[in-house]
Amino acid sequence: MTDSKIMFDSKSKAKDNKQSKQQANQQAKQQAKLPAKENFSEWYHELLMTAEVVDNRYPVKGMCVWFPFGYAIKKNVYAIIRQLLDPDHQETQFPLLIPENEFMKEAAHIKGFEEEVYWVTSGGTSPLDVKLALRPTSETAIYPMFKVWIRSHADLPLRIYQIVNTFRYETKHTRPLIRLREITSFKEAHTVHATWEDAAEQVEVAIARYSEFYRRLALPFLVSRRPSWDKFPGADYTTAIDVIMPDGRTLQVGTAHHLGSTFAKTYEITYEAENGEQKLVSQTCYGISERCIAALISVHGDETGLVLPWTVAPTQVVIVPILLGDKEKVVAVCRQIEKELCSAQMRVQLDTSDERPGAKFYKWEMKGVPIRLEVGPKDIEKGVVTLVRRDKVKKAVPMIELVSAINKEADELQTALYTKAGNFHESKVKEVASIEQAKAQTLVGVALVPWCGEIECGHNLEDQVEANMLGEPQYLNFPEAACAVCGKKSTGRTYMARQY
Ligand code: ZN
Repeated sequence: MTDSKIMFDSKSKAKDNKQSKQQANQQAKQQAKLPAKENFSEWYHELLMTAEVVDNRYPVKGMCVWFPFGYAIKKNVYAIIRQLLDPDHQETQFPLLIPENEFMKEAAHIKGFEEEVYWVTSGGTSPLDVKLALRPTSETAIYPMFKVWIRSHADLPLRIYQIVNTFRYETKHTRPLIRLREITSFKEAHTVHATWEDAAEQVEVAIARYSEFYRRLALPFLVSRRPSWDKFPGADYTTAIDVIMPDGRTLQVGTAHHLGSTFAKTYEITYEAENGEQKLVSQTCYGISERCIAALISVHGDETGLVLPWTVAPTQVVIVPILLGDKEKVVAVCRQIEKELCSAQMRVQLDTSDERPGAKFYKWEMKGVPIRLEVGPKDIEKGVVTLVRRDKVKKAVPMIELVSAINKEADELQTALYTKAGNFHESKVKEVASIEQAKAQTLVGVALVPWCGEIECGHNLEDQVEANMLGEPQYLNFPEAACAVCGKKSTGRTYMARQY
């Protein structure tokens, strides 16, 4: 816990006697146990447990349990995804198990996944005739059904999505919400179109929706076209969204793939065109997983806990009564405020537990509650409430304007979070000219490197810089520069970073 927190803590109890003040400070100090954010990995693991997001103690490697509080964050985050997709996508659900014969049909695809698949090989004590794969992703579950669903051009475009768990036998070091063997919340969309161009347009739509999604989480991001050797297995191309984590490494938090007609050929998905001709469809798929929550927590959080944007906080406002003087009156006023805020559609908690105010402040800061209201006898006398934002901005607000004041502060807090995250993001991306500079920059963040686009130069870059190519930045233009490997002049660039 920071000094300012402790000072503030004691200030609110100015009337208390000295002994209890010391006790409160002691308590606050004991609770101050998150590691510094510079030790990102340690801080991250500790925060997930202390704030009760996910529990990493489940006895299967790479599988986590959502605490009810973490699950509440997840529900709010995924409500935004649903809101963004529902206007023109239909939500659906496909089975978890995929028969081996369907799973193995698409050669390029299976090559990308075969080392990661869990297989169900028996039912009770009887071996199964056909092995069943636990979906690592659902193309091979969904596309055989597309073959029977799609008949004519009138059935297109078809856009569906599901939010399901998927399984991948990760051999790399697993991390809660970041690298899992059970991905609990994979939102995968699958779309079918009459032409390649329509599918390309859909990829742009997907990236635009994802961009809006991350804006609502106040998270800045990079958009790039993955290099050909790192695209989704079976795709024509992959566009990806990455967030820069506090340690300068990037986390891929969304991808959109143009599948062309690769899967359409394999699964014989055709439609009758208006002239009666049978044609292969073009497809896309795009996904987001709980990594979006890992990014949300990591970018905004601080040493006192989660910092949740108003849009997704399970509790948006917490009311802490300062129980001095006429305690019943204080609680009655707090209840009145709670009622008023509830009817204004805010997610409110009134904390009437027996803990001291300092302990309550600590607890709700850890949970990332955007706005705390402190109500004591002095406030009531003056007709005000003490409002404290999660970013420590503090002010007295007249009780009669409380709802509008909270709405205003919530907006400003969202903007402040976005600005802070934006400044961090910008400080972590740097243009470089040479391999040496790229190497130095990728130790602390993302390097923007001149690249002629040749595959050989790309592989060379990855080997020599010892970092990954995220690929060509999208929607940006650059002047000509010399490729960091071959020196050829071009307007091409690539982001490079150490990736999670
Ligand atoms: Zn080159």
